[in-house]
Amino acid sequence: MTEYQMFVEGQRLPDGPRMPVFNPATEEIIAEVPVASERDVETALQAAKSAQPAWARLTGVDRGKILRRWGHLVEQNKSRLARILSEEEGKPLAEAEGEIDFGASWFHYFAEFDRRIEGEIVPSDRPGEQIWIVPAPVGVVAGIIPWNYPSAVAIRKIAPALVAGNSIVLKPHEDTPLSALELARLGHEAGVPPGVVNVVTGPGETTGEALVRSSIPGLISFTGSVATGKRIMRNAAENVTLVSLELGGKAPFIVMDDCNLAEAVRAAVLARFLNCGQVCICNERTYVHKRVAERFLSAFVSAVKQLNVGNPLEPNVHIGPKVNKEELEKVERYVEEARQAGAQIATGGGRPHGPAFEHGYWFEPTVLTGVRQDMRIMQEEVFGPVVPVMEFSDFEEAIELANDSRFGLAAYLFTNDLNRVMRAVRDLECGELYINRGPGESIHGYHTGWKQSGIGGDDGKHGLEHYLRRKTVYLKYSID
Ligand code: NAD
Repeated sequence: MTEYQMFVEGQRLPDGPRMPVFNPATEEIIAEVPVASERDVETALQAAKSAQPAWARLTGVDRGKILRRWGHLVEQNKSRLARILSEEEGKPLAEAEGEIDFGASWFHYFAEFDRRIEGEIVPSDRPGEQIWIVPAPVGVVAGIIPWNYPSAVAIRKIAPALVAGNSIVLKPHEDTPLSALELARLGHEAGVPPGVVNVVTGPGETTGEALVRSSIPGLISFTGSVATGKRIMRNAAENVTLVSLELGGKAPFIVMDDCNLAEAVRAAVLARFLNCGQVCICNERTYVHKRVAERFLSAFVSAVKQLNVGNPLEPNVHIGPKVNKEELEKVERYVEEARQAGAQIATGGGRPHGPAFEHGYWFEPTVLTGVRQDMRIMQEEVFGPVVPVMEFSDFEEAIELANDSRFGLAAYLFTNDLNRVMRAVRDLECGELYINRGPGESIHGYHTGWKQSGIGGDDGKHGLEHYLRRKTVYLKYSID
């Protein structure tokens, strides 16, 4: 078992209470981390506040160099970081390695903005005057992140914050704090000055709340559930702190009768079962045109049956455990409730059996049929390896069903009809639309949720903009 310290100004904080970190595949304690008190959070925020002006005064190129170095160190440490990630979160090792690579690419991508954060000069209505619109950092960023991508999402917050000249206090989820602590150590090695990146560990209700209620952060950049996002927004309102919220999703996956069905099946499987179904853009409800429903379902169920559930550190494993007991029980409740309401189990449906599954939070990959739109399984985010499949009669109905949700993060459409594509682009209420392909956003896209899936967003130039504010300067001058 490894003992971790918090990472505040690169120093050790006084000893206080600690909490265990479990491996969800074995239920063994793998590490202990401190529980940050309100005072620790304040210390971290003050450290970030003191360090930020000097960081912002470096040239963009100097900040970019450090981000690039950090990215290279992450790549060099890939195997070690991936193993820690897999052990704390439960994803298969190959997926964990993919996450480390994806994370490192954000360092490299945001480093490219080293010379690209630009202001504007706009014409004045008065003679002898210039109007400048000048970009400025927001100051201290409070980054609060979930457990499903604890390494990549940490970098997703750190890299844009830093290139824009901000400092950051990051709070990882209490189940998965190790990836962020390991990253911070590498940041120190890359030359990030003390205080510019700080990591505090502890529960959301205390440590997270203290971060949000403080008047120091200029921005709270949050990724997590809708319920927490709403609470953060309410608390942030007290100091009128900016918020950027990446929240939950209930992505519809629409399969039309004119599409490449084999491709649709492959993408639908990946879009649901990646990371044990614990991705915000997961295929949470599959809608299939009635003309191809039987063919789709038979191929889909047989592909799902091929997925191997098992120890994430073993090769050829596709699905690891759920991250914790509460999450496992939540998934079980959704399936049971759907069954009671009339859904049928096409495959899976419960915990797997056998000696390998005596410990850990396992659930079988599950497909449900016979579902109705008003069932909770069609309305609430399951965030696990379970997918309901429902038939529809025409495209209009599919669009209506897809939009019948309080969420609006991602959506998928498989069709080869250009007019249907254009109609979906116009009318689907979502921030991210995948057409004829599976999941996975790009670092230079804009990952943003509509409706209750969020406000603001991450990635690309639009994501970076949230880490900046603008100042308008009216400059009067007098020259002959
Ligand atoms: P969560 O909301 O329970 O926790 C997220 C973070 O918020 C954790 O660090 C937690 O400690 C902290 N927190 C909890 N209460 C808090 C409070 N009162 N004040 C401040 N911080 C608090 O979410 P989760 O279970 O970790 O993650 C799963 C959810 O995240 C799913 O809904 C998923 O869709 C969503 N998610 C969204 C995206 C996206 O980009 N839109 C990406 C990944 C996950």
